[in-house]
Amino acid sequence: MKSSARVVVVGGGVVGASVLYHLTKAGWNDVLLIERGELTCGSTWHAAGGMHTLNGDPNVARLQQYTINLYRELERISGQSCGLHMPGGIMLAGTRERFDWLKMAKARGRYLGMELELISADEAAKVFPIIDKKYFVGALLDPIEGHVDPYGVTHAYAKAAQIAGGEVVRHTRVVDLKPRADGSWDVITEAGNVHAEHVVNAAGLWAREVGRMVGLELPVLAMQHQYLITEDLPALKGQKELLTSIDFEGEIYTRQERGGVLLGTYERAGVPWSPVETPWDFTQSLLPEDLERIAPSLEVGFRHFPTLADVGIRKVVNGPFTFAPDGNPLVGPIRGLKNFWVACGVMAGFSQGGGVGLTLSQWMVEGDPGADVWAMDVARYGDWATLAYTNAKVRENYSRRFRIRFPNEELPAARPLRTTPVYEQLQAAHAVFGDYCGLEHPLWFAPSAEEAHEEITFHRSNAHPHVAAECRAVHEGVGLLEISNYGKFEVTGPGTEEWLSRVMANRVPQVGRVALTPMLNERGKLIGDFTMCRVGEQRVFLICTWAAESYYRRWFERHPPPGGVTVRPCAMEYVGLSVAGPHSRTLLQGLTRTDLASAAFPFLSFRRMDIGMVPALVGRISFTGELGYEIWVTSEYQRALYDLLSSAGRAQGLKLFGGRALNAMRIEKSFGTWAREYRPIYGPHEAGLGRFVDFGKSEFIGRAAALEEKESGGALRLMTFSVDAAEADAAGDEPIWHEGRVVGWVTSGAYGHRVQRSLALGYIPVALAAATDGFEIELIGERRAAKRESAPPLDPAGSRMRA
Ligand SMILES: Cc1cc2nc3c(=O)[nH]c(=O)nc-3n(C[C@H](O)[C@H](O)[C@H](O)COP(=O)(O)OP(=O)(O)OC[C@H]3O[C@@H](n4cnc5c(N)ncnc54)[C@H](O)[C@@H]3O)c2cc1C
Repeated sequence: MKSSARVVVVGGGVVGASVLYHLTKAGWNDVLLIERGELTCGSTWHAAGGMHTLNGDPNVARLQQYTINLYRELERISGQSCGLHMPGGIMLAGTRERFDWLKMAKARGRYLGMELELISADEAAKVFPIIDKKYFVGALLDPIEGHVDPYGVTHAYAKAAQIAGGEVVRHTRVVDLKPRADGSWDVITEAGNVHAEHVVNAAGLWAREVGRMVGLELPVLAMQHQYLITEDLPALKGQKELLTSIDFEGEIYTRQERGGVLLGTYERAGVPWSPVETPWDFTQSLLPEDLERIAPSLEVGFRHFPTLADVGIRKVVNGPFTFAPDGNPLVGPIRGLKNFWVACGVMAGFSQGGGVGLTLSQWMVEGDPGADVWAMDVARYGDWATLAYTNAKVRENYSRRFRIRFPNEELPAARPLRTTPVYEQLQAAHAVFGDYCGLEHPLWFAPSAEEAHEEITFHRSNAHPHVAAECRAVHEGVGLLEISNYGKFEVTGPGTEEWLSRVMANRVPQVGRVALTPMLNERGKLIGDFTMCRVGEQRVFLICTWAAESYYRRWFERHPPPGGVTVRPCAMEYVGLSVAGPHSRTLLQGLTRTDLASAAFPFLSFRRMDIGMVPALVGRISFTGELGYEIWVTSEYQRALYDLLSSAGRAQGLKLFGGRALNAMRIEKSFGTWAREYRPIYGPHEAGLGRFVDFGKSEFIGRAAALEEKESGGALRLMTFSVDAAEADAAGDEPIWHEGRVVGWVTSGAYGHRVQRSLALGYIPVALAAATDGFEIELIGERRAAKRESAPPLDPAGSRMRA
C-alpha cells in the first residue's frame, strides 16, 4: 500500500467504488480505496440489484437516470459485465389514491424526459401475467427499469478506476483517522499509515463507526431486509424476462431471477440491525431468516401473485443496509472538518451509486457538486438528528417505503422533539402541528380539539375552510403567527458589514433597516435567501431557512469572516411571534412606547423595543403581504409576549393563523422560498430576485456570473399562474404545459383565499415568459388551464405592506 494519496476512500462497496471511479474520471488519479475485506463484503454483495429512476425529488431522480445509463459505459471501459437486465418495470396500484399517485408520478416524469405509461388492470395482466388483476385498478409502466449484478457493478467501477490509475487495497481495515494542522489526514490502517489530502467515508454499514473516528454521529441506521427467491415457474419458461414490479398494497417488489421470481418486502414491522455499534466481524455475512416477520406482506403477495404460491421457496436472504432518516443519501463535505467527505446512507446503491459518485467527485474536484443535490446533502441534518431520532425516523421511513406520502401529510415518528415555550398554549387553541427540523410548529387551527386532525388527501382537505378563515382574518383584521421555525445568525464585530457585503449579493442595510438578499455561489446560483436586519453598526441579525443552517455554516466556514467578526447561529435562542393585518399596528402600538406610525417606523424598519415588559427585536415586515411585524425575543419571554398580544388582541378580533395560511398568502404575493423556488439550479434573475442583487458593490461572491445572467437574461423564469383547479391545488413538481408541450415545472402551489383562486409558482423557459395564455398545469393526471399572471395576484403595488 502506498504511503500517501490525494484521496483515500474508506469502503469498497458499490458507493466507494463509484466514488473512486468518478474521481479518476474527473482527473484525480492519485486515489486509493481501502477495503477491510473483499469488495462488496458489506451490504452490497447480497443486494437484489434492482434499479429504477423514480424518486420523490426530481433532482435525485435525475441522478438515478444518470446511474442507470452509466452501466454500459462502465462495461465498455472495464471489460467487466454488470449483469445488466432491462426488462422494464411495472408499478401496480391497488387503490384509486395509489392510481392518482401514479398519475402524478407520470406527470413528474414528463419534465425529466421519462416515458412512463399508465395502463388499466386488464392491460397490466397482459404485460405482467403473474398477477390476479382483480386486486388492481391500474398500473404505470417504466421502460427504464431492471436489475444488475452487485458484484459485477462494484468490480466494474473498481476496474475502470484502476485502469485510470486509481488503487484498491483489500483486507485492510482503517482503524483511525487523525487530522493534521494543514487539513490533511493520517489514515491509520492495520497495514500502516497513509497520508491523504482528502478522506471519503463510504463505509456503508460502518459509516457511523468511521464517522465516530472523527467525532461525528452520522444519522444513519441499518435495517434488516429480506427477499426470497422461488423455485422455477413453469409459466416463465421460454418467455421474455418478466418486468420488475412494485405492488404497493403488498409492500412488495419482484423481479425475475433465472427461472424463478425474487420477491422482497418493506414490511411495516421493520427491525433495525446493530442500532448502536456495527460489529467489525460481520463480513460477507447474512442474518437469520425471519419469514414470520414478513408473513403479512407475503400473504398479500401470494394472493396478488397467485402463481408464486404454486412453487416452493428456493432461498431466503436477510441482510442489513443503511438509511438516513428521510431515506435519501448523505453526501458532501462535513462542516468543521476540513477535507472530510461522506457518501453514505445510500439505500439504493444500484439506482443512486453512480449519481452519488459523480456528485461527490465534482464537489471535491471543482468545489461544487455541479447539480442541485440539496435532497441528499449531508448538511440537511443538524445536531437534532441524534441516534434515537434517527432510529425512530428510519423505522418509520422503512415501513412507509411503498406507502403514499400525501402532500399535506405529517409523519408521527420522533415527535414531539423540539417545542417552543408557547407550544401548550397553541395546543390549547387546537393547533394542528407540523414537524420541521424536529420542531413542532402550527400548520392551522381547528375550531375544537375533536376537529384538530387533518385528513390526508391529494385534494383540498378539511383544513381548507379554516385556513380560509385565517387568511380572511389577516386580510381584514389581524392575525398572530408563531415564527420560531426560522434559522437565525447574529453577526457582530468590526468588519461585519464588509464580510456580509462579500458573502451576500445585496447591500447591507443602514442601522435600523432590513434588506432581503440572495446568497450566491461562484457560479452565480442561489444558495440561500436571507433577511439582513441591521441592529447596530457592528451587529446584524440574519433570518433564513432553518433547515439550511448547517449548509450555511459550512459555506461561512469556506468564506470565513475576518478576525474580530463572529457569526453565531442562534435559531432557538430567538423565538418569534408575528402580527399581520391592517389592524396589527393598532394592536402593537397599544403595547409599546416606540412610535410605530409609518413615518417613524416605515416598512423594512428594524429596531430593539419593549413590548409591554418584554425586550424585543421588531421588524416591520411580513411574508403575508399585509402590514405586519415580526417580533423576536429570547425564548424565556415568548410566553409573556404571547399572553400580552393575545389579551390585547381580543379587542381587534385577533385570530391565530398557521403555516398553511402563510404559504397560501406568500404565493398570492409571488414570494418564493428556499428549497422550492430558490435552489442552486436557478440564478437570481431567473428567480425574480434580480432587484436584490446590488451590482453597485465592487465585489461579492457570484458577481461576475450574476452579471452575465442579468445580461443574457438567463434560461428560465419563475412565474405565477392562476390555475383552473377544481378540488385539488398544485403542491409542487407538477409539469407546466404550453400549447401541448411540457415546458416547465411547478415549485409551489396553494389556493389563494384572499384572491379566491388556485395558484402555482413555477419555472418556464425565458422565451415563454411573455406568453399569458396557452398554459396548462397537470393536477392528478388532468391538464387544467392556467393563466400566467403578469404581477403578484394580491396587491401588486405592495401598498398594503407599506400602509
Ligand atoms: C437484502 C438486500 C437487498 C437489497 N436490494 C437492493 C436493490 O434491489 N437495489 C438497490 O439499489 N439496493 C439494494 N440494496 C441496498 C444496497 O445493498 C445498498 O444500497 C448498497 O450496498 C450500499 O453500498 P455501500 O457501498 O454504501 O455500503 P456497503 O456495501 O456496506 O460497503 C461499505 C464497505 O466499506 C467497508 N468498510 C467499512 N468500514 C471500513 C473500514 N474502517 N476500513 C476499510 N473498509 C471499511 C466494508 O467492509 C464494506 O465493504 C439491498 C440491500 C439488502 C440488504
